[in-house]
Amino acid sequence: MTSAASLKAPYQRGLSLRDMIERDSIPVTECGCWIWLGALSGGRYGGIKVSGRVVRTNRAAWIAYHGNEPSNLHVLHHCDMPLCVNPDHLFLGTHQDNMDDKERKGRGNQPSGDRNGARTKPWSRSRGDNHYRRRLKLARETAI
Ligand SMILES: [Zn+2]
Repeated sequence: MTSAASLKAPYQRGLSLRDMIERDSIPVTECGCWIWLGALSGGRYGGIKVSGRVVRTNRAAWIAYHGNEPSNLHVLHHCDMPLCVNPDHLFLGTHQDNMDDKERKGRGNQPSGDRNGARTKPWSRSRGDNHYRRRLKLARETAI
């Protein structure tokens, strides 16, 4: 069943940014996160329309609850949940802070070179003569 409220345009005039964030997110008691359930922007993040442009929800939440827009800083998550809009879980940082934070949390550290899976476990990637299409071709050729 569709309620009358959900039929309204998603971002009406007259709703404050806080209203929009609180309406379209649900608090998760276990972690304290407020998970954004509204529209997404760029895949992993929520998007919210603020004066004609789409702002990521973590950024929008920062503006809504802390009042100022961090012009050249990133809004980062303590909780590591891209869809979290709990202002208490947000902090400001530079691009470098973001990278350091990812590193600390064990993300953004894709093994490269000799540590990459293609080198350490070559059998996990089928390439060249091991690739199924190549094997099929070879099988056909030798069958003749
Ligand atoms: Zn959170």
